[in-house]
Amino acid sequence: MKNILILAEKPSQGISIAEAFNLTEKMESAKVNDEMIGIKIHSGEYQGNQLNVISAKGHILELRGRSGDIIYFDFEWKEPTTRDKDKRGRFLLLKKYSKTADEIVVATDADDEGELIGYNLMMYLGKLNITTRMLFMSLTEQEIRRSFSNRAGLRINIALAAELRSWGDKVFGYIFSKFLTKSYMKVVVNSGYIKLPVGRVMTPVLSLVVDRINAIEKVKNELKDKKPTIKIDFDIFPKMPSISMFDKELDLEEDKTDISIEQATMLKDFYSTIQGTIINVFEKKQEKEPKNSGLTIDDIREWAYKNGIDYHETDSVLQMLYNNKLITYPRSESTILPDPDDVDIGTKYYEEIIYNCLVQLDLYEHEEYLIESYEPRMGDHSDGAHYAIHPTNIKLETELPHIHKFIYEHIMKKFIKGFGFSKTWTNYVCEAQFENDGVILSETMESIFWQEYEDFGYKCIDNPSKLNFESLDEDDIPMVEVGDNVPCITKISERVMVVNPPDRYTKEELYKFLRDERLGTDATRSIILQKLWNGNLLRGDPPFPTVLGKRIIEAIKLINIKLTRTQLTREFEKNMEQVKEGSKDIMEIKDDLKEEITDIVDAKLGIMETVGNNIAFFGKCQRCEGRMKLISYVKQGQTGFFLACEKENCNYTMPI
Ligand SMILES: [Zn+2]
Repeated sequence: MKNILILAEKPSQGISIAEAFNLTEKMESAKVNDEMIGIKIHSGEYQGNQLNVISAKGHILELRGRSGDIIYFDFEWKEPTTRDKDKRGRFLLLKKYSKTADEIVVATDADDEGELIGYNLMMYLGKLNITTRMLFMSLTEQEIRRSFSNRAGLRINIALAAELRSWGDKVFGYIFSKFLTKSYMKVVVNSGYIKLPVGRVMTPVLSLVVDRINAIEKVKNELKDKKPTIKIDFDIFPKMPSISMFDKELDLEEDKTDISIEQATMLKDFYSTIQGTIINVFEKKQEKEPKNSGLTIDDIREWAYKNGIDYHETDSVLQMLYNNKLITYPRSESTILPDPDDVDIGTKYYEEIIYNCLVQLDLYEHEEYLIESYEPRMGDHSDGAHYAIHPTNIKLETELPHIHKFIYEHIMKKFIKGFGFSKTWTNYVCEAQFENDGVILSETMESIFWQEYEDFGYKCIDNPSKLNFESLDEDDIPMVEVGDNVPCITKISERVMVVNPPDRYTKEELYKFLRDERLGTDATRSIILQKLWNGNLLRGDPPFPTVLGKRIIEAIKLINIKLTRTQLTREFEKNMEQVKEGSKDIMEIKDDLKEEITDIVDAKLGIMETVGNNIAFFGKCQRCEGRMKLISYVKQGQTGFFLACEKENCNYTMPI
């Protein structure tokens, strides 16, 4: 009998794994600081093996290190301290069980961080040689058992890339935060400890918002004394007689910006004499393919955001749906689904999921429409580690909270729709010609007033109440005929021209910026954004920088403008990709980054006082004319800031 230790990423996932193997829960204790800490583990026999499941709490090892100097790179993965007794206890149990294990199975999340958690711990315990990996799409019993039977080796390059990211973030945040802190301490006498928020990915995003706000203020100032200009628009619309047709602008003359009212009136008179004639009417059919059956995390986040749900909230809802076995691993950028030709998967996999979705969406009465092919529509983008997000065959046992249900149903609907047939639209197209004294203007106008649904996927998902929708009779179609006359209609409008400053970025745009620049990961992007709000650097949506947010960016620009731009961090992400592919050495990348950061810091050690003044003082006290000074405090583990008068006997304070 083989003794197998299984490492789960979180206690809730440990329970799902234990359920899949019918293991029994038991209490184990670990001694932390002379105190016995009770931790639930799961044990039992499965296929002739003795299994023990112990859960981590995300990262069980911690990347730590400290120094009095600004330049410091020697962070190391260390055992958890006794500050978190439960985590420390879990570590001790994992260590104990690993000693007698014949095999250790890393069963953490299927993403980069999951790989790193397993890799770090096994490396630390010296057990890499007996470590295997199980990769599951969802937490269903079926899938966990499948991944156990198919366990393979750890994906070392993925773990190393994740390690590089953790280290890079730590180094960047530590060194530049320390630079600002020390600068502050140079100019503030008897200052307490102050930790100023700087981040490899966070800082360029903050800088983006600050730059935009500065640009808006600049335009506003320029416009203050300017008189508005009046613009006259002269438009010509040949109008179709049917009300169901679109009006389409006909560009008879180029945009007339500098035309006077008199000139416009003359043109209006001229064009009103022009008659149009319908010269052609025909039908046009268009086919529209449903989109992919599976979704990426960004597909869901964007859709949810349009429905008023914050990215952060969407992420936590998806995590909960995953923990409840209702969907596959949610941090996926992939659009590929498991291949039904794969023996391991088969069409049965999809049959069960579709059946489950129809039941849960209350659409099962329409089972006659059940899709026969079970061939999913797959996209072409794989993120290497996961499949596209899709529902599982697990039936929901309890009622979900409103937002959870809303998102879950969306995932199910999109999934079913992806199996549907193409939709056919019938459009009617009218071509007209306008003529006056030999001037011929031809224009084609299209009307889309009749559409035909031919597919169950669309019917039930887009509009379930219209399952019995019937197309209009042809007699009802308000068509024009060849030879009909249509008038040419003109319009003159005056409007006041206002030069508008650019808009503030919305939270959604910032998120898209991160994604398009490939900054951060799916897992971290919304957390990074949230940090800007939690850390008092941004407020509201669309966000506005706080005075602290603005000052930090100014101070960092004094050190090196590159730190507020994406170039440095993008190069770093590119390196990470190369580590993943195995084409670049991690030590080489670390050395390059060390050299670059050291150069940046060394070049600016002489201006620390200037930087300090920029960070520490904010205008005059409203009571005594003293300077207002930045003060930090820690509340519930979060650093907060406020301003206080510099003078000792004045107690005037202000929020940031
Ligand atoms: Zn004062």
